[in-house]
Amino acid sequence: MSENVNIAEIFGEDVFNDTVMRERLPKKYYKELRRTIDEGKELAPDLADVVAHAMKEWAIERGATHYTHWFQPLTGITAEKHDSFISPVRKDGTVILEFSGKELIKSEPDASSFPSGGIRSTFEARGYTAWDCTSPAFVRHDAAGAILCIPTAFCSYTGESLDMKTPLLRSMEALNTQTLRLIRLFGNTTSKSVKPSVGAEQEYFLVDRERFLQRKDLIYTGHTLFGAMPPKGQELDDQYFGVIRERVAAFMKVLNEELWKLGIPAKTQHNEVAPGQHELAPIYSDCNVAVDANQLTMEVMKKVAERQGMTCLLHEKPFAGVNGSGKHDNWSIVTDDGINLLEPGDTPHDNVQFLLVLTCILKAVDEHADLLRESAASVGNDYRLGANEAPPAVVSAFVGEQLQDVLSQLISTGMATSSKQGEKMETGVRTLPDFMKDATDRNRTSPFAFTGNKFEFRMVGSSESIAPPNIILNTIVAEAFAEASDVLEKAENFDIEVHNLIKKYATEHQRIVFNGNGYSDEWIEEAERRGLPNLKSSVDAYECLTSEKSIKLFEKFGIFTKEELESRQEIKYEGYAKEVNIEARTMIDMASKSLIPSCLKYSKVLAETVKELRDAGADDTAAKEILYEVTDLTIEAKNALQKLIDDDAEAVSKGDVRESAEFCRDVVKADMAALRAPIDRLEMIVDKDYWPMPSYGDLLFEV
Ligand code: ADP
Ligand code: MG
Repeated sequence: MSENVNIAEIFGEDVFNDTVMRERLPKKYYKELRRTIDEGKELAPDLADVVAHAMKEWAIERGATHYTHWFQPLTGITAEKHDSFISPVRKDGTVILEFSGKELIKSEPDASSFPSGGIRSTFEARGYTAWDCTSPAFVRHDAAGAILCIPTAFCSYTGESLDMKTPLLRSMEALNTQTLRLIRLFGNTTSKSVKPSVGAEQEYFLVDRERFLQRKDLIYTGHTLFGAMPPKGQELDDQYFGVIRERVAAFMKVLNEELWKLGIPAKTQHNEVAPGQHELAPIYSDCNVAVDANQLTMEVMKKVAERQGMTCLLHEKPFAGVNGSGKHDNWSIVTDDGINLLEPGDTPHDNVQFLLVLTCILKAVDEHADLLRESAASVGNDYRLGANEAPPAVVSAFVGEQLQDVLSQLISTGMATSSKQGEKMETGVRTLPDFMKDATDRNRTSPFAFTGNKFEFRMVGSSESIAPPNIILNTIVAEAFAEASDVLEKAENFDIEVHNLIKKYATEHQRIVFNGNGYSDEWIEEAERRGLPNLKSSVDAYECLTSEKSIKLFEKFGIFTKEELESRQEIKYEGYAKEVNIEARTMIDMASKSLIPSCLKYSKVLAETVKELRDAGADDTAAKEILYEVTDLTIEAKNALQKLIDDDAEAVSKGDVRESAEFCRDVVKADMAALRAPIDRLEMIVDKDYWPMPSYGDLLFEV
């Protein structure tokens, strides 16, 4: 048994948090820094020097030798370049360790090697990372030693954002401004700022590392591109919340400890639906902190797994035939003095501010459903959305029975006079305590579900950054609040006007609300009748980034310029085509060099068996039938392989990134499926000793 830990003692020990700052900074500077962080003031150079010095001393005590500006370029993962604290060696051969305010607040990585979608050309390579002092610096320990990591935003020389954090911070600022306008109208004069709170539930798979290394598809693409279903999948529903295997439990223990030290409040852990699948959820925090924490969580998961002889798969669909992984983005809006604007109270029908907030959000989601869908678009997530295990590609909102009833009253009579209440739970067992049911049941199939005092956006893929969905949520809701405030600030009779607005929004955006089964075919038909967009592939979704409506929205709130949107769109088309291309080439490699040759070897053995049986005068029927079957399927695979080779070459040769992406979506992906089908059937026939890689069964059940 490994030793026990005291969470309170280790929590945040590697974070330059408020307590450390208070201890280590002269009072005057501490106060100034606090103001900078809390009120978003600019960081003065002398303050930066003092903070940098304190940070360096603290980091060195924690063993740090290097620092890095830790940022999130448009690759979807984090980037870092390490610099040691060493400054020029002195004449006497000794060194001093330095870290200046300038080095803390700004760094200059070469921007030309990161995706920029045409914004940067290689000859104008300057890019800057700038400290986001609202997300704490931390020391990370791994094989590289200890490194002081400073969360930063990444921009080009000309000020365009080249990362996820810059637009995220801009969107938080927009939401702050517009929400303050709205709550002032309701008489709130005390709240000073508003931030979105976010908690991201993270799903993942663990597989044995030795077996992982025997599969090229896992190595190159993070998921399996071939693989027949084992005799047992997830049909018994015996995995979800099941007893956690020792090996996995040991992983979770170390993972939790590492996260706690980094100040990430890991809270919940359990087995997920598929064999080999698990989940971790932290306690929610400020939006940008939660985004950083989620990136860090994914990194730590991978490292801890590796140290324990396993590999953590964060891909959206590691295995066909069992559930894939997602990330639920829980989102609410909270003031600095702790008021959650999504808290309905016990009687939502007379909570006018809540009803306006709710209907504004419904309006925002209805008007920009395409953008929300796009924010969860990726090659990996295309394997999952709409496959009856994750929400469909159609965005709708679940509000639950109680709020639906209030909205219906508003729409039909213009007045809401009551709220359905939770009833007493009858278990039928005397010894169980009585308790009150929630007024509303849950819905597991909705992409955007109201869950008590937050919305839960469930489309996001497990490997993706949660920055994009939060940028969209913050911005579209800021727009809805701005429009409501425009009307209400001019209203002669506020009460009447607010009431009219709520009714108007509820009525006009009814179509986005759906409380039924989001996995059913009927809903997809119904959604089409309602005129809701159904953007099945990521390639379909990328288009909306540069629609007139989107450009207007993003420019109005200073989140993205038209050029930034165009560049991001280009990066996405290109990224899609590249990723599908890698998958196709991996399949080609595996089929040509390993799978088909193995089938041929086995055919040879079968042919020899047939001959031997015949020579011995024995019945060769069975051997012959298997031989024919293997031969037919191998021919089918060989033909499919050739088609994939040809079409993939065509996809690559297209000059336009969008055309290339569309060709991948329509042709290459179909070819990949056509190659996979005969190979998966062969896997079920060919002697296991001849199959060149671990099976699904080996990977999923023998962790
Ligand atoms: P549920 O059971 O509805 O999924 P949980 O309480 O398990 O809710 O929380 C799921 C995630 O949502 C956790 O990460 C949690 O911290 C986060 N969460 C809870 N309340 C809020 C809130 N008000 N705003 C944002 N996230 C929240
Ligand atoms: Mg949840």
